Amino acid sequence: MSKIEIIPLGGIGEFGMNCMGIRYRDEMIIVDAGMGFPEETPYGVDISIPNFDFLEEYRDDLTAIILTHGHEDHVGALAYILKKFNVPVYGSRFTLALAEKRLEEFRMLDDVLMHRVEASQTIEIGSFKIEFIHASHSLVDCFSLAIHTPVGTLIHTGDYKIDDTPVIGEPYDLKTLGRIGDEGVLALLCDSTNSTVPGRTPSERAVIPAFEEIFEQALGRIIVATFSSSVHRLQIVINIAHQFGRKLCVLGRSMQRNVEVAEEQGLLKVPYGTMVDLGSSRALEDDQIVYLVTGSQGESRAALWNMATSTYKGLEVEKGDTVVLSARIIPGNEKGISRLIGHLYKRGANIIEEKRRLVHVSGHASQEDIKIMVETCRPQYVVPIHGEYRMLFRQKEFIKNHVAGYDDDNIILIENGDVLEIDEFAAKVVEKHEMHKTFIDEESLGEIEYDVIRERKKLASGGAISLVVTVEKGTHELIGEPQVTFQGVAHIDPLNGFSDQARKAVVDAIGDMKREHILDRSFFKENLRIHLKRFVQKELGTKPVIVTTVVEV
Ligand SMILES: [Zn+2]
Repeated sequence: MSKIEIIPLGGIGEFGMNCMGIRYRDEMIIVDAGMGFPEETPYGVDISIPNFDFLEEYRDDLTAIILTHGHEDHVGALAYILKKFNVPVYGSRFTLALAEKRLEEFRMLDDVLMHRVEASQTIEIGSFKIEFIHASHSLVDCFSLAIHTPVGTLIHTGDYKIDDTPVIGEPYDLKTLGRIGDEGVLALLCDSTNSTVPGRTPSERAVIPAFEEIFEQALGRIIVATFSSSVHRLQIVINIAHQFGRKLCVLGRSMQRNVEVAEEQGLLKVPYGTMVDLGSSRALEDDQIVYLVTGSQGESRAALWNMATSTYKGLEVEKGDTVVLSARIIPGNEKGISRLIGHLYKRGANIIEEKRRLVHVSGHASQEDIKIMVETCRPQYVVPIHGEYRMLFRQKEFIKNHVAGYDDDNIILIENGDVLEIDEFAAKVVEKHEMHKTFIDEESLGEIEYDVIRERKKLASGGAISLVVTVEKGTHELIGEPQVTFQGVAHIDPLNGFSDQARKAVVDAIGDMKREHILDRSFFKENLRIHLKRFVQKELGTKPVIVTTVVEV
């Protein structure tokens, strides 16, 4: 009897980049293809994706990509995986609408086969039968997956919370989950993002009273910053704006795009006449307008940042404005948000953040939701996914201590690049691979080679030295003095004579070289680089990047 292999490419032990391979014999499906946002921007890189080259060994096995929902950390890397492995994609109507917008930017839309699926639908892909379970989350039209295989059924929760009263759509479909639980579940792959948070995650509706209060009290303009994908939240702001007789103006590219898509799909309901464009918004009195903007994470290119630091298309935050930050702080963004809030205070705005009023609720399952999930589907094994290692670990601890029948043997912690083999008799990691991230250049959206990042890292830590040596074409004799210039190298003082010493070291090195070693130009260059590197390391104790140029005249 064959086993199932669970192979995470991303999202385990880190925030974002969710992507998982699930393999049975020579068939493999991929669940989600997300991007990540490296915490401390490493050397000019803001976006990372899983290393899809890893899948090369499974090229012939790949049959489909299944999307659980439309968040960037689940679909943001779709274009990159499809460029390498063009397999059919399955997802909900809204998820595919968001994914299609992204694929359009890559001009790939015509080359990709997209299949729209609905909640409660089951599709067959080879030996896999995939049942889509309606899930509640901060986004709409989300799925948990029941992946039925000849070895047993896996439940992949996707991102979820158990919201009994969502603003848009139905509550989490626990009934179907319970039915599948009765039939038997081999393993539950369960979202860990909020596994450190006690209790239940409040419903999306829980923020309504705070928003009503804010709208009641605000005398000036109201500016609400939230994630453009938090469709429930957008609906709440639209409803309350309408209720209080304010018009709504949407600013920021991703916010405008998502509002448009959600409205087209009939998910977001905008009362007639509520929405105005920027031009018309200016003509309104301060107490008649709400701006719904991007930039809740302090992103320096977003609408709110520009409004707070200079102007956004002529719009500035002013005294008397109420700014609502209706979002959680994504790890790594603390400093940016803190700077943003500083700028807003300087401009005299009243700022309302999550800590002051309930203007944000999480979209992820807290401990008691996780308990409901485990008790409803009663899996043989639990595999915590989606989250930093601390969160995976805490999910394991929580389930061990609060749900009967689970312990170290049947709650399995894995890492990216592991191959977890699983059947009804055992679950164990049989292979481990080191998983690199792939970094993406935000301007060109192209992949940045790993060597480039390594080089940038070296430049940042040691600076650079440029060495130019001029030789005569015929005689190969050195002409003039070598030129050595330093950029960002520590302990270099124009007066301490280090440049002269470095030049002398190069001249001496050339003097000691055999003629045939100078004739071979690439060998000559490399030799010069090594000599200068050793000299600098000995004298200064640093390792700058050294670029050597040989000029022939
Ligand atoms: Zn999500």
